[in-house]
Amino acid sequence: MKDQTASAQKECPSCAMKISSGTKTCPICQYEFPEGHSFIIIITVILLLLVFLYSLTF
Ligand SMILES: [Zn+2]
Repeated sequence: MKDQTASAQKECPSCAMKISSGTKTCPICQYEFPEGHSFIIIITVILLLLVFLYSLTF
């Protein structure tokens, strides 16, 4: 028998604990999952590039 709840869980890479997939921070070791953070980094890089290009044009 397969546990249906297993699909809704993910393993923490820091402490190897099985935690809820919706959780962004591990409740055991406070490890922060990179989901969402990468998106903010991409936006920041694009904005910095735009400011850099803008300063070059003038
Ligand atoms: Zn953890």
